[in-house]
Amino acid sequence: MTEIRHHIRSELLAAWVTGNLPAHFAAVVASHVALCPECRAESGALQSLGGALLEGLAGVDLSPDALSKALAALDDSTRRPEPAATAAGIFPAPLMQVLGGRPPKWSLLGGGIRQQILMADRSGSLRLLYIPPGRKVPEHSHGGLELTLVLQGSFSDSSGEFHVGDVEDADDEINHQPVAGPGAPCICLAATDAPLRFRALLPRLLQPLFRI
Ligand code: ZN
Ligand code: ZN
Repeated sequence: MTEIRHHIRSELLAAWVTGNLPAHFAAVVASHVALCPECRAESGALQSLGGALLEGLAGVDLSPDALSKALAALDDSTRRPEPAATAAGIFPAPLMQVLGGRPPKWSLLGGGIRQQILMADRSGSLRLLYIPPGRKVPEHSHGGLELTLVLQGSFSDSSGEFHVGDVEDADDEINHQPVAGPGAPCICLAATDAPLRFRALLPRLLQPLFRI
């Protein structure tokens, strides 16, 4: 594997370590951490820091009972059970867990692009995408955060190139049109916390609303 260059930023790792990340983002973070020794080390350090901070609170006016409860809660959230599923090929163990131990079931999206939606509710979605080499994903902006982890092949957009293990952390400022790199098809795991807004679609959707 080539060196991982795009990592999970510390706020997101800290939120994951303390169990405060929604399930769809947690799946991407856990999958990256499974592939990335650097983020594994950082999340370990964050766990120790969290414990130390709570122990530091012992000097504050806090009942011993409250402290032990807080420590137990931290312990609970950080002693994550190992996923029951094991890694399979390009799919790390936390992703195999979401897949129920089975290979993906792709649906065709057109243009050779395939996807499998793994989670979807009002808070966001988690999907696997398969993009043939050189193929573009329609240009879009985000209603919120989007985390995309590359599992096979690569993609690039205006913010850079992303290879196996890299995570793109895109917020609602970014309008982008990812293009799959040459070679193997790009397979990635993407989590978004709000529906994507495809630029070409938006004006048409707004038309009846504004009578333009
Ligand atoms: Zn990393
Ligand atoms: Zn995007």
